[in-house]
Formats: sequence, structure tokens, C-alpha cells
Amino acid sequence: MTATPIYPAHIASLKPYVPGLPISDLAARLGFEENEIVKLASNENLLGASPKALAALASAAIDISRYPDSDCAALVKAIAQFHDISPEWVVVGAGSESVLGNIAATILEGGRKSAYSAYSFQAYVNAAKRMGAVPIVVPSPDLKVDLGGLERALGENPSLVYIANPGNPTGTVLEPDELESFLSRMPAHVVVILDEAYFEFVGPQLRGDSVHWVRRFPNLVVLRTFSKAYGLAGLRVGYGIAQPALADMLRRVRSPFTVTHTAQVAAIAALDDQEFLSRTIEMNGRVRQMLVKGLTSLGIQSLESHTNFVLAKAGQGAAFARRLEKHGLIVRPVDSYGLPEWVRISVGTESEVERLLHAIHVELAT
Ligand SMILES: *Cc1c(COP(=O)(O)O)cnc(C)c1O
Repeated sequence: MTATPIYPAHIASLKPYVPGLPISDLAARLGFEENEIVKLASNENLLGASPKALAALASAAIDISRYPDSDCAALVKAIAQFHDISPEWVVVGAGSESVLGNIAATILEGGRKSAYSAYSFQAYVNAAKRMGAVPIVVPSPDLKVDLGGLERALGENPSLVYIANPGNPTGTVLEPDELESFLSRMPAHVVVILDEAYFEFVGPQLRGDSVHWVRRFPNLVVLRTFSKAYGLAGLRVGYGIAQPALADMLRRVRSPFTVTHTAQVAAIAALDDQEFLSRTIEMNGRVRQMLVKGLTSLGIQSLESHTNFVLAKAGQGAAFARRLEKHGLIVRPVDSYGLPEWVRISVGTESEVERLLHAIHVELAT
């Protein structure tokens, strides 16, 4: 008899995260050069990264033989200044995904529960399952987070509630007033994660003052990332904002040295380059409108997006994505989110979106 390790059931039942198809995979399959592939699958910045961040990154590269500042003091200070809060309120991680994982590790232990909306970001599901937590999934018939449903889920006694605003993969947004009043009704022993990965893309009327909410609510963690509008997805930097007592708990759990020196330096430069951010937001808005119009004229319905991606109803999402692959285009099927009829399409440059619309036109005609 061969002895094998005994894995806890909640670990053995996990499924690995399925990312967007890598450019190199499709290029190799089609015999294309990598620069001939257009990837609109991972909500990356359509302009790439800020030139200031790239310059800072290049000059920081000579320091890679040293450990980074584990506390990310300079970055924490820059983020605190940016939000006009004290540094004790800021917790940095290797992507906000890693902060999410730390919150789950802090709050959830075997038998505790976490609640989130159906069609939520995959990381919520995995972070909860990894901890052996019991997920409470609140139905979302109109693909928006049902705040009333989440509030009723309190009856099942969750310790952690996740809300992505805007949502991924839906792109939908909540009214700030409704969200604030929801937060005010959450009992103090329930930690609420407000994941604002796409905050910068939300128009001014629908933007909640989430930092002000953190001042009001000691059980709230707001998450932001440098991966989307700031264009640093490959460097892995994100952060949480919470009152000092909660932030202190998260700092105890986080692994040291997870955010590299180069990432810290580039994130500081990116935060300082608000001009790049404005260009990103302006261009994203323009091309997103073009994408939605193009899809509509091809008879493809999409949800009103407040992000840098669009959720489009393609009939059979996975098959649709596979057909586009022949054209060197990568979009994201979302059947793993429970949305088999939809695909998520990131907003690219104008020429990338033109190429996508043309390919869809060709496919629909055959
Ligand atoms: C992209 C995304 C994140 C952040 O990802 P990181 O790269 O880990 O910072 C977090 N939440 C949602 C909903 C996202 O779509």
C-alpha cells in the first residue's frame, strides 16, 4: 500500500483559477507572432502603463539583489496622502487579490461563512473555500448585486460580506446612496469588503465617497488596485483601506516581502501620473461606446458597463470565444462564473475593437 498525504476535503475540492488565455499560447497554436494577437480578456489597461511608472521601474531594477521594504512605507505614505488618510489605514498587497486572501485568512476559519452575490469575482469563492468557509451565494437575477438579498443573508450569520462595485464580470454599479445605507445597516461584527478594482472608471455621479465610508464604519475594508486603470497588472500591487484596528489585523496576517521593490517604486510613480489616468479613462469611455454600438448593430446585447470591459450576450460564450481565437482574438468566456451565454470583452484600443467587430461580423455571416 502506498502512503499518500491526506488533504483536507475543502482543499481537495478547490479548482485552480482559470485566467484569460495567454497571448503566447494562442500565438503558438496559430503560428502567429505574439504582436498579431489581440487580447481583450483580462481587463488590462488599453494604453499599457504610465510612462512615468515605466521610467521609475527601469531605474529601480538595479536594486533587485536586495529585499524590498516589507512594510512598503514609501508607497503606503503616497497612498495615504492621495486619500488624505493616515498611513495606519493602508494595507498593501501583491495585487488586491492578495489583500482579499489576507482578509479571508483573518476573518474566516473553518465553519465561518462568507456572503457574496452570484456572478461575483472568482477570488471571493476561492478565498472562502481555501479557508474551509461556507459560502452564502445571494441570487442576482438582474446581474446587479442585490443589497436587499445580501442583508437578508445576515440571517445565516456570515462573518464576511463581499461586494464588488462595479462588479466583475458584470460591469454593473450600485447607487452610492443605497450602498452607504446598506453599509450603515451592517452589524459591526460583520466585516464588509468593498472591492473597487474599477473605481476610476465610474462616472462622477455614481462614485461613492468610499474613503469617507471607511471613516464611518470600522468593519469596512475598501480595496483598490494598480492593475486596471493604473496599468500595472503585471507588477502585482493593490491595497486595502480600513480603520487602524482592522488594518493592524490584516498586517499581522500578510506575508513579508510580497510586494517587490520595483512594484512599489512603479506604483508610487503611477499614482503620481494622474494625467495618464485621465487619458486612460477618457479613451476607455470613448472606445467602450464604440464597442457597445458595434455589438448592438451586430445584434449582440450587452450590459451597461461602468468599467473597462463589457459583458456581452453571445449565445454560447465559450463557442463564441473559440471562433474568435481563429482570428487571433482572445475574449473571456464566463461559464465558470455561471454565465454560459455571455462573454466578457475588455475595452482595447480603437483599432483592436475594430478588428474584433470585423471578426464577429465575419463569424456571424458564416
Ligand atoms: C481585477 C480585479 C481585482 C484586482 O486584481 P489584482 O490584480 O489582484 O489587484 C480585484 N477585484 C476585482 C473584482 C477585479 O476584477
